[in-house]
Amino acid sequence: MGFLKALRAVVPTETDGDVVAAYSADQAAWAPVGEALAVVRPADAEQVRQVVALCVEHRVPLVPRGAGTGLSGGANAVDGCVVLDMSGMDRVLAVDADEQLAVVQPGVVNDDLRRAVAEHGLWYPPDPASSPWSTIGGNVATNAGGICCVKYGVTRDYVLGLQAVTGTGELVRVGRRTRKGVAGYDLTGLLVGSEGTLGVITEVTVRLLPLPAAAPRTIVGAFDELVDAGRAVAAIAASGVTPAALELVDRYCLRAVDDWKNMGLADLGDVLLLARVDTVDDQDAARIQEFFDAAGAGWSTRSTDDAEAEALFAARRLAYPALERLGPALTEDVCVPRGAVPEMLGRIERTAAAHGVRIANIAHAGDGNLHPLITVPAGDEAARERAERAFEEILDDAIALGGTVTGEHGVGLLKRRGMRAELGPEVLALHRAVKRALDPAGVLNPGKVI
Ligand SMILES: Cc1cc2nc3c(=O)[nH]c(=O)nc-3n(C[C@H](O)[C@H](O)[C@H](O)COP(=O)(O)OP(=O)(O)OC[C@H]3O[C@@H](n4cnc5c(N)ncnc54)[C@H](O)[C@@H]3O)c2cc1C
Repeated sequence: MGFLKALRAVVPTETDGDVVAAYSADQAAWAPVGEALAVVRPADAEQVRQVVALCVEHRVPLVPRGAGTGLSGGANAVDGCVVLDMSGMDRVLAVDADEQLAVVQPGVVNDDLRRAVAEHGLWYPPDPASSPWSTIGGNVATNAGGICCVKYGVTRDYVLGLQAVTGTGELVRVGRRTRKGVAGYDLTGLLVGSEGTLGVITEVTVRLLPLPAAAPRTIVGAFDELVDAGRAVAAIAASGVTPAALELVDRYCLRAVDDWKNMGLADLGDVLLLARVDTVDDQDAARIQEFFDAAGAGWSTRSTDDAEAEALFAARRLAYPALERLGPALTEDVCVPRGAVPEMLGRIERTAAAHGVRIANIAHAGDGNLHPLITVPAGDEAARERAERAFEEILDDAIALGGTVTGEHGVGLLKRRGMRAELGPEVLALHRAVKRALDPAGVLNPGKVI
């Protein structure tokens, strides 16, 4: 039986060119997109197992996909592949309030999980700014971070166990439901962040926390200079005060959000630091404000006004789509030691000047996770080449400062050179050995990561 016929026999299969194209790329500007053969929409893990087995048998590449909000090209089609759209497996299977865990299918949208567990007084902390759209499967496959991760950790810290189909075609369960557990190698940890290259995640068991009790306080500082905001971040990190969020938004992003939503943000200052504190007393909030002022904030304020705070954090979440509306943006995701944030921000400004490109900045600053967004006028090829050189220079600078080329978005297609430079040949050889063990036929998301 031909491959497509066999595929149709096990799973709903779409081959219409327009539909296939619509599912063939994520949100990464400029990452190459191949021509997929088909998109399939499995309803359960058994269908996923059969799809993987068929792809292995026929040596057809398989590209798993959640919501396609990725920013590294990880879910982009490769030529002749099947795109495995996991968004239809979207049920919360169980919420166990006593054990503070939930079992979910991978297509559940992050915000939907958060709402479902909130009904039980529980909280799933990882909160990527894409939480209204991105799926738990995609979050796990990229080890997504987010705004509150500076205090509460990233996706990895909340994944207890997984069900997955590896490239050997087997449906396996790894991990645990217990609070602790060290039986065998940490294969759950291996699959988290593997970007669909080692297995297709078909079920996720996540750890939950009680909903935070204290009402959060927000501290805002406005700076004239990016580097001064960076100095405030480094000082807060060194002090041991741990905010529940510490985000940076610069003038280009504020203006882009204003252009879109008319919020009057650019009047607040050139660079904003937004901090959130969820401790019961006011001490940490007061100290953060002092650090803002000491680093040169033009003004700063503390607020317990929920609506005002939510509007500022909503603006932070809107910054990326707001900029994208203005033209293609090449998105960086470097992460540096927090003490190196001012130096890295200075280097980013010098890179922008040296290559004649505009670089906007948003950042999960409290983690040292910076998102310089290199924007060029649409259709300007020369500017695009300069932007690509600037992109690689920023990756090298992050490595030179003891950082990493990707803090949360993943390697995908865009950061493969940077990752090789960061890891070195011995560690890359270990990666290849792991890939061979879990995907011997090399069909799972080929050409991504390694
Ligand atoms: C506006 C905006 C804001 C963002 N903010 C953040 C942020 O704050 N923090 C952050 O970390 N990221 C952020 N991102 C990036 C993106 O949302 C995350 O990487 C997210 O985790 C991707 O989820 P997804 O469901 O869209 O996955 P996709 O983009 O569809 O896929 C991402 C990767 O996961 C793989 N994959 C997907 N599902 C599965 C599965 N079931 N099994 C195996 N592999 C799978 C894909 O092959 C691909 O490699 C943002 C993106 C946008 C557009």
